[in-house]
Amino acid sequence: MNEKTFDTIDSRADELAALTADLIRFPTINPPGEAYTPCAEYIGERLRKRGFTVEYVRGVGTPGDNDRYPRTNVIARFDGRTPGKTVHFNSHIDVVEAGEGWTLDPFGGVIKDGRVYGRGACDMKGGLAASIIAAEAYIDMNPDFAGAIEISGSVDEESGGFGGVAYLAEKGYFSPPRVHHVIIPEPLNKDRICLGHRGVWWAEIETKGQIAHGSMPFLGDSAVRHMGAVLGAFEDELFPALDRKQTRMPVVPEGARRSTMNINSIHGGQTDDYFPGLPSPNVPDSCKIVIDRRFLLEESLEEVKTEVTSILDRLKWERPRFDYRMRDLMIVHPGMTEEDAPVPRAIASGIRRVFGRDPQYVISPGTYDQKHIARIGKLHDCVAYGPGILDLAHRPDEWVGIDDMVESAKVMAYGLDILLHGEPRA
Ligand SMILES: [Zn+2]
Repeated sequence: MNEKTFDTIDSRADELAALTADLIRFPTINPPGEAYTPCAEYIGERLRKRGFTVEYVRGVGTPGDNDRYPRTNVIARFDGRTPGKTVHFNSHIDVVEAGEGWTLDPFGGVIKDGRVYGRGACDMKGGLAASIIAAEAYIDMNPDFAGAIEISGSVDEESGGFGGVAYLAEKGYFSPPRVHHVIIPEPLNKDRICLGHRGVWWAEIETKGQIAHGSMPFLGDSAVRHMGAVLGAFEDELFPALDRKQTRMPVVPEGARRSTMNINSIHGGQTDDYFPGLPSPNVPDSCKIVIDRRFLLEESLEEVKTEVTSILDRLKWERPRFDYRMRDLMIVHPGMTEEDAPVPRAIASGIRRVFGRDPQYVISPGTYDQKHIARIGKLHDCVAYGPGILDLAHRPDEWVGIDDMVESAKVMAYGLDILLHGEPRA
């Protein structure tokens, strides 16, 4: 790839910062899914003026979609002079709510001291802006390129991606022959390549009891006490067992390089506002918890579930009248693109070229839209790579460094060139 592309990206640093700030000024808070359409149109309009073909795809009927909060996605495509492979940059445009503790306007798009501040600066409007500048600079400096470049801004990543990448993948936007390679500019740090994520099993477990007057609990059966036995067994057996399960997946932070489980919530008994200000007088006949179990490539979903059900089934024998019900709330299988696939190889070459060192390969502790591209799109040549410091995501005074965006835009342009040509050029 010619030096001129890098020079062009350098010369557009101010434009890159301004673009990021503009994107931050759309308060695309999810939930409920605010300002999706104007944000998508802003991206689409910019790219249309530069010769991209632009489509808006609404995730009709997906969770949260309605006329007040339409799930508007934008997909822009630039076809090169001759046919070839398509490289797609996918970014989510939604952000989480600002929350407390800001010293700056979270949606003001403040540029200060070499940084752009605001909700979504790092996760991931900075990455989206970097991919736009990388693609534009590449097209300007390599007008004869073969293949196609796509840029999408999709919605709802923060709430599971159902109206965004999942919907687009169902419609064929993330499958060959349309698309061959995908880069997701999530904020994983500018010299790291994220190859995938751990698996997720969310489930609700309910213990059953029998209602009775609270003054005579011996006439009923407390579902909360049964749940206490479940949690006790989890503490004694399950959590220590999970701690021992290490993985070959290079998950960051290192504490997540093993199996984990969160108890997300617990609810038992009837209302705490039975009479105004007074609780239910009854023995609880139901208690529910939600668990969030993160699992590894080395584990099967079946074995993960059996660890839990074997404890529950044993309690049936140990505890008189113990009964339970369990239902799945969400399942995502773990996924990992191998380091020698084309996209990680191309991005790794870019990192070596720009930073003069090897990349660090990482796995995300939580999932992101790559899961839909792999499972629904059946496209496995995909990684997350982008500027921004992962730890700043979702925090107050979130920011992204302008130099970091410029450098990672260069890595993206360099990787793009390799993917379109098959080989690094001198
Ligand atoms: Zn994100």
